[in-house]
Amino acid sequence: MENRQSKYQEWVENLVKTKANQEKEEFRQVIAAGNTRQDLTRPTLESLLQQGYTTVQWDSQGSREPKCMELQNMQWTLADFLTGLMHDAPMFEKSHPGCLCKIVVTGPGMQNTVIDTFGNVETI
Ligand SMILES: [Zn+2]
Repeated sequence: MENRQSKYQEWVENLVKTKANQEKEEFRQVIAAGNTRQDLTRPTLESLLQQGYTTVQWDSQGSREPKCMELQNMQWTLADFLTGLMHDAPMFEKSHPGCLCKIVVTGPGMQNTVIDTFGNVETI
C-alpha cells in the first residue's frame, strides 16, 4: 500500500514538473514573439514574502539594455516590489518584456535567493 502511494506521489510530481516545463517553454516562445507583459515571478515572490523575505536587489547579469543597466543593484522592499503593478509582471514592468535579469531576495535570517523572470529559484 505504501509503495503504491509513493508511486502515485512520484507520478503526480512528474506530472507537475512536466506541466511546469511545458508552461515555461510556451512562455519562452511567447516572449520570443515579443508580445507579452507577463513574467512568472509574482507567485514565487508572494510566497517568499509570506515566508519572511523582505528585500529585493536587482542583478542585471551584465545586460546591456539601458533599462536593465539603470536597475543594477537597485533595492526595494519585497512588499513595494509587488505593489502597484499594472501587469502580472513585477520584473518586466521595471525593465522590459523578455528581460533576462535576475533579482536577489533576502530577509533577516533567510538564505539569499535568486529568482529569474521564469520564476526559477536558486539559493546562494
Ligand atoms: Zn533585464
